[in-house]
Amino acid sequence: MEWSDRAACLTAEPDTFFPVSSTGVALDDVAVAKTICRACAVVDSCRDYALSSRQPFGVWGGLDEGERRAIWAKSPTPALVT
Ligand code: SF4
Repeated sequence: MEWSDRAACLTAEPDTFFPVSSTGVALDDVAVAKTICRACAVVDSCRDYALSSRQPFGVWGGLDEGERRAIWAKSPTPALVT
């Protein structure tokens, strides 16, 4: 994943992108993570990777777990990223 070297989240707190729950104050972490993603130069590559590799946890490419699950439900076999 050569794109990951340019990730805007490289220096972020891991809990911001992988909060311990999906309710309460963890939602603040998710919002912060999505804000960082919006300014990330590799957001498209990151989102494609997360969707194609079915990352189950955390915020990737501006999408949280529930948003990825919704996409998978509509398209169960997304194209693989090379
Ligand atoms: S899109 Fe978000 S999760 Fe993906 S590399 Fe960029 S900052 Fe990190």
